[in-house]
Amino acid sequence: MRFGRSILLLVGACVLTAPRATGAAELTCSSSATLEALVACIRDHMPGRSSGRFVAPSPMEMDAWRSAVGAMMYGACSFALPSSLWPFAQVRPFRDADNGRQYCLLLETADWNGDGVVDRGFGAFIVDAFAERELSHQVSHPIADAGTEMQAVTVFKRTRSRTFVLAGAHRDAIPDEQGFQGFSTSSDVARNAATMFHTTHVAITSYYGWKPWWAVQWHGMAEDTCESVDVHLSHGVDTAPAAGDKILELRKNLLAHQPTWRIGVPGSRVCALNATTNVQGRLLNGPPPSWSFGIPAATSSRRFVHIEQHPWVRDADRWIAAVLATWP
Ligand SMILES: [Zn+2]
Repeated sequence: MRFGRSILLLVGACVLTAPRATGAAELTCSSSATLEALVACIRDHMPGRSSGRFVAPSPMEMDAWRSAVGAMMYGACSFALPSSLWPFAQVRPFRDADNGRQYCLLLETADWNGDGVVDRGFGAFIVDAFAERELSHQVSHPIADAGTEMQAVTVFKRTRSRTFVLAGAHRDAIPDEQGFQGFSTSSDVARNAATMFHTTHVAITSYYGWKPWWAVQWHGMAEDTCESVDVHLSHGVDTAPAAGDKILELRKNLLAHQPTWRIGVPGSRVCALNATTNVQGRLLNGPPPSWSFGIPAATSSRRFVHIEQHPWVRDADRWIAAVLATWP
C-alpha cells in the first residue's frame, strides 16, 4: 500500500510540475470564513460569459468525481482524491464562522496559467453531514442568474439542508457545440449531462435510491419574462400539480409570508418556464430505474423543484420560513 502510494505521488508530482507555467496558482478560497464568502470567492474565480474557458470533463474524471461525491454523502471528508482529479481539485472540511458548523467541500482549484480563473469550470459541492433536511440546493446558472448562488447557499445553511451544488462556469462560457458523437459540450449544466454538476446530481440521486429527498434548483428570469408572475414553480414537467404536491405547499407557505408575491405553477398558463428540458429534472422525472421495481412511481418522481424568479425576489431571507414549513 505504502509503496503504491509513493509511486502514485511521484507520478502525480510529475503531472503537477511538468505543464505548469510560472505563476501557476491554486484557487482554494482558503481565507473565506463563511459559506457565503466561500461561494462568492468560487464564483469570482469561475469562467465568465464568452470566456471560452469551459473544458468538458473526461469520463474518467467524471467517474472519479462521482466516487468522491458518493464518499462525501456517507460522511467522508479526509480522503485522497483519485489521481485523475487531485491535480485539479481539492476535498477538505470547511467550518462556517457564523454558525460554527462543519461542512465538507469539494471544489476545483487549479489555475495553471495563473490568471485568477480556474482552468476547467468543474464547480463545487458542499455536504452537511449533520443535516436536518434531505434537500439539495442547486445553482446551475451562477453569474447569469445573478444572486441565485448567494440566495441558495444561505437557504442551504439556514435550513440545515444536506447538500449544495454549484456549477463551475457561466452558462454561456463557450458557444453550445455538438461535440464527439453529438454530445453537447455546453457549459450550461441544465442542458448538458456531461458536466461535474450533473455528475454530482447523479451521485446524490443514487445515494438516496428510493428514500425521499428533493433537488431544489434556484434560477433567475429576466424582468420582462413571465411578467404576470414574480416566481414560477415547477417539477420540470408541464402538467399541473395535484393536491398535496410540494410546489403547491411551497406556494402556500411563501404566500403566508409574502402575500403580495404572484406565484405561478404549471397549468396556470401565465408562464411556460417549466424546465422540461432540464437534464437534472429529466433524470428524476424519467422512468424509474430497474432496481425500483415495485416501488410506486410517486416516490421516485416530483423530487425536482425548479424555481424561476424575477430579480427582486432572489432574497434568501424571504424564502427560508417557507422552505422550513414545506420540508419540516
Ligand atoms: Zn437559470
